[in-house]
Amino acid sequence: MEGIMPKISTEILFQDLKQIAPEFAPGQKIQALHEGLPDIDSQLSVGIDIELLNSEDLGAIAEEVRNTEAPTSINRHQSPIAWYLPYHLNRDWGIVISSSRLQEYAGQLWRRLIECGVLQDSDEHLGIALRLTQTSVIEHEIFHHKVENIVSRQELLANRILYKGDTALMFEKVEVQQAMLDSGCPGPIKYAKELEEALANAAGVNLSQLKRAAPELSEGELKTVVAVLHEMDSGLTGGYQHGSLFVGRRESVIALNVLAESYIRASFGSPSLGLRRDYLRPVGLPIEGIRKRIRFSADGSILGRTLGQLNKFAGQSAGVLTEEIIRQLITRVAEENRWSVQVDSELEFGKNFLYSVNKVRNKGKRSAIWRCVAKVLYNFPVARGHTVTGPKDRVLKNARGQSAWRLYVQEQTPQALRLHAWHGGTPNLVLLNVANHDRTIDFEL
Ligand SMILES: [Zn+2]
Repeated sequence: MEGIMPKISTEILFQDLKQIAPEFAPGQKIQALHEGLPDIDSQLSVGIDIELLNSEDLGAIAEEVRNTEAPTSINRHQSPIAWYLPYHLNRDWGIVISSSRLQEYAGQLWRRLIECGVLQDSDEHLGIALRLTQTSVIEHEIFHHKVENIVSRQELLANRILYKGDTALMFEKVEVQQAMLDSGCPGPIKYAKELEEALANAAGVNLSQLKRAAPELSEGELKTVVAVLHEMDSGLTGGYQHGSLFVGRRESVIALNVLAESYIRASFGSPSLGLRRDYLRPVGLPIEGIRKRIRFSADGSILGRTLGQLNKFAGQSAGVLTEEIIRQLITRVAEENRWSVQVDSELEFGKNFLYSVNKVRNKGKRSAIWRCVAKVLYNFPVARGHTVTGPKDRVLKNARGQSAWRLYVQEQTPQALRLHAWHGGTPNLVLLNVANHDRTIDFEL
């Protein structure tokens, strides 16, 4: 995974980091890690012409849009208009736009803007709708690039790679609702990924960018465009519908801080490194590099390759475990062994447990974990392990009176896993983390 980090982006990030954090010197390890990588930018920049259509094409699209029934809304989830492929995960990183979906979306915008009296039913004005749509979509995807750059900056500070297939997926379920409320931001957003999409949509409806895309429109007409774009997003789900909450600079900066801090917590576990907020903001990040990496998938060949990559990614996600899946796995283990189970009421998850389990990629090791948990939960057959002692050699206990346990997931095998948990009382078991036998952990009291 590390082998595909682009050199060019790192150099600029280093410069950027020196400016905002002069006291910080990136560790040699991560520097070597980034610098030893191939300079993929020179191999792959293809110089896409963003001025995509000539007047003949425009006429044909206009004809098609006029003859098609207006779609009620466009579901970006089921059939996205564009994708951002992170450079941490894809050699062919960048933005891929589906030409046909872009045209469909532009047709919808064109119709609405004709209804609002901003555009006319002409090929030329369809061209304006296409430019506006394209800008909006590209700005949305560039925002995802900026977020990846924030994570890169954290990697340089932490001196290790944080953004991998599994962590990228774990980010999606990081809770942000409380942090948003604490910061005085509007509260409907639950997870980090939803917040990222909302902020990306806010970035995609940026007045000055739209003005650059359609200089022939007046200020008032552009404001109508902004309102219509938000209206088109409002029917969506998954955070996309909340872009309009973050059009104000203040809200968007606060929300971006919340997002960056949530990703840091997810990467490092708790507590966070206590980084200064300046380190988190994507100020002065290189976006010219990404402009060279925008490509259209007109004939489906790039689309096919992209979908292949997305499928590969989805395959990895099958290996990422949530609480619900883990409960099912433990229930299944117990049922196979003919124990009666009440996993829902007897089991609780500490905040780092999912993270530690998802780092274990070996299937055999993972099933050993479920067997161990099931054994402890049902006292059958007795799982091996020992209690952990604290001050004065007393068994460490928490406020609920539960004892600290170090349980043997595996024995007599290299890198044998241990499971750390609070045991006894209600709930019967609180899972804290899994770690190699030579690691000690702090029990959270
Ligand atoms: Zn997005």
